[in-house]
Amino acid sequence: MKTIDLRSDTVTLPSAAMRQVMANAEVGDDVYGEDPTVNRLEAFACEMTATEAALFVSSGTQGNLLALLAHCQRGDEYIAGQQAHNYRYEGGGAAMIGGIQPQPLEFSADGSLDLKLVEQFIKPQDSHYARTRLLSLENTQAGKALPMNYLAEARHFVDRHHLGFHLDGARAFNAAVYHRCSIAELVKPFDTVSLCLSKGLGAPVGSVLCGKKGLIDAARRWRKVVGGGMRQSGILAAAGIYALENNIERLADDHLHAEQLASGLRKIEGMSVRREANQTNMVFLDLPDEHAIALKEFLAVRGIRIGIGHTIRMVTHLDVSGEEVERVVTEINRFFR
Ligand SMILES: *Cc1c(COP(=O)(O)O)cnc(C)c1O
Repeated sequence: MKTIDLRSDTVTLPSAAMRQVMANAEVGDDVYGEDPTVNRLEAFACEMTATEAALFVSSGTQGNLLALLAHCQRGDEYIAGQQAHNYRYEGGGAAMIGGIQPQPLEFSADGSLDLKLVEQFIKPQDSHYARTRLLSLENTQAGKALPMNYLAEARHFVDRHHLGFHLDGARAFNAAVYHRCSIAELVKPFDTVSLCLSKGLGAPVGSVLCGKKGLIDAARRWRKVVGGGMRQSGILAAAGIYALENNIERLADDHLHAEQLASGLRKIEGMSVRREANQTNMVFLDLPDEHAIALKEFLAVRGIRIGIGHTIRMVTHLDVSGEEVERVVTEINRFFR
């Protein structure tokens, strides 16, 4: 029986068709700017996002790091969410490599950062303080698509305060599909945006960092410094192009599957299912630790894998079908009986 892996949408495997375009990709040395497939991916990403420049990078973490390094100098500060990936889950890279201080703040329930709260944490221009340079948001945040009017307000806010504006858009395509808008419209307020190709879009490796030309030029320089200058990376970029051409609209299926999973689980007595109205491909369960571990083990022997941390997280993606979601609901039901 096939394993149903709901730990993350990073576990998606390249399809036969994707592998075919990878095998046939025309390649060259990208550090010399001569890989035609990487160049094609970067041009395509610019066009889709309506940004000035794009850079193919090895991971979402690298995209975020390069963006922070491009926006900030040593002794500068960026404001991000307490649970933001680029504060909490990226090894402290910005501080370690760039001398950039984070100012983490609690996310609001909808995944945004309250701009009144952000304003209180912008440091005065005085030698006591780090220089607040950048506001960084995440969309989706824990599966939640940020409200579009909030993003427009946040743009006015950063302009008023002379801050740069970065989006960790690891799952920005999920947000665009949720809002039924183009990715260009979704990322328009930002100066830089990092987009993962390797999550719900199904590519094996890579992200693109898009944005203003000066910032992307700086990021390209930093990419070399951190060892991210890759050579015949067109083999990977080909998978990225395939993902952008074929796997965006189908994210709507993942959102439906997550909804199907949540509504199935809500029928189980005493089950605490967390799925806000603006949630996309994620479902969270709150269970006492001992039950969470027992459930994880119960499901593991039945070929179902789930993520447990503070809560149980289940993520739908292109390798999980509607029938498989039904099977997960049935097995979780069985566990609670
Ligand atoms: C996965 C993720 C990243 C990092 O991507 P990697 O390719 O795993 O380095 C960044 N931000 C968010 C919100 C993510 O979920």
